[in-house]
Amino acid sequence: MHKNRHSMFTSLLLVSGCSFALGLLIGYPSWALALSLFVWAFFQARQFNRLMQWFQSEVKQEPPECTGHWGELFDELSRLQRGRQKREDRLKSIISRFQDSTSALSDAIIIIDRHHNLEWWNKSANHLLGLNQESDRGMPVMNLLRDPRFVRYYKRGQYNDSITLPSPAHSDIQIQFHITRFGDEDRLLVARDVSRLMRLEQTRQDFVANASHELRTPLTVIRGYLETFLDQALPKPLLRGLSSMQNQARRMENLVSDLLLLSRLEASNQASDEHPIQIRSVLTHIVEDAEQLAKTLDKDHKISLDIDNAFDLNGQEIELHSAFSNLVFNAVRYTPANGKIEVRWWTDEQGGHFSVKDTGPGIEAMHLPRLTERFYRVDESRSSASGGTGLGLAIVKHVLARHGGQLTIKSKLGKGSTFACHFPTEMIAPSHVEDEHSA
Ligand code: ADP
Repeated sequence: MHKNRHSMFTSLLLVSGCSFALGLLIGYPSWALALSLFVWAFFQARQFNRLMQWFQSEVKQEPPECTGHWGELFDELSRLQRGRQKREDRLKSIISRFQDSTSALSDAIIIIDRHHNLEWWNKSANHLLGLNQESDRGMPVMNLLRDPRFVRYYKRGQYNDSITLPSPAHSDIQIQFHITRFGDEDRLLVARDVSRLMRLEQTRQDFVANASHELRTPLTVIRGYLETFLDQALPKPLLRGLSSMQNQARRMENLVSDLLLLSRLEASNQASDEHPIQIRSVLTHIVEDAEQLAKTLDKDHKISLDIDNAFDLNGQEIELHSAFSNLVFNAVRYTPANGKIEVRWWTDEQGGHFSVKDTGPGIEAMHLPRLTERFYRVDESRSSASGGTGLGLAIVKHVLARHGGQLTIKSKLGKGSTFACHFPTEMIAPSHVEDEHSA
């Protein structure tokens, strides 16, 4: 460009010099100079016009043919333009390959911006979630995926786990949602059709539920006969055998009822009828039962109950009773005689919390991540002696998941353990116990 400016300046000097000299010869130097400058300016203006026209045609056409510095300028601009076009084509082809590959995916992919609005999604999202490419762009995600369980999952902001729900567009399709954060508070939502997996899982659950159910009747009959025999005046060795059979039959009954409860919990991932439960009354009953159990096991435990009365918990009472009692009974069963067990319920800005702290044997850190697996036992002999089914903590975990809660376990070998259940703020409700008392 510097070269152009220089040659333009030279041509101006040349034109004015020549015309002035010619003017001197004919006796009208100023007229000759003025005329030649006018012609020169006219020529420049015309080239400038051609340049503007070329720009207005959005530089799609070939540049106008020119010589001299204008020609160089056009060539330079045209070269830049070709480079830009090449880059644009390359970007277009990358975008179109990206779009082709994302629309070939069977999973739905949705980009949600920092304001929680839908920014972009692939073709599968239209089919799986019933999104509309035209009308739903920029809409808040929670307007389109309204299921309270999704809203709870989305708002919680901890996306380590995924959540499985029926599709808002087709209730027979089960969708697994998983959110990942990226960029500046943006979110990537991946939704996968897991209906086939769920059906297989359902078949497995049905089998366990049916088998457990079928075992119930024969066990009741066996237990009934054993009780009758034990009432008879039979020889001592026979009585000992029968009593041991009765204990094992009782264990099997507990196992069957825990298996049935677990398969009921697995049948859906949300508690069916949530309503405020009176924490004080539920926990008082559990502690009374725990004291009874401690007495039966000949363990003189000191069990304390500390309740913050301000808030109750929303949920399914039978399920929560089962989860809380499992934790308290475990503390009673695993803590050696004369132990101390503290049961607490309190609320803070994070939500509601229930905890059971014991002075039992504690659990080694390496076992903690696997503790809630079915039939996982730290010490087989200790657990069998305690009369547990091996399903207690699996039940607790399921119940909590259905209530949006989480289980944490803190334990030190030889120092005792603390099992705590944490519920989100939307699951707690102001307690009305005091109002009722004062009414
Ligand atoms: P179980 O019926 O065997 O008690 P759970 O699922 O309730 O099954 O517990 C799993 C394992 O966790 C138990 O076998 C036991 O080893 C350990 N455990 C549970 N609660 C406690 C506790 N309070 N103190 C020490 N160990 C515990």
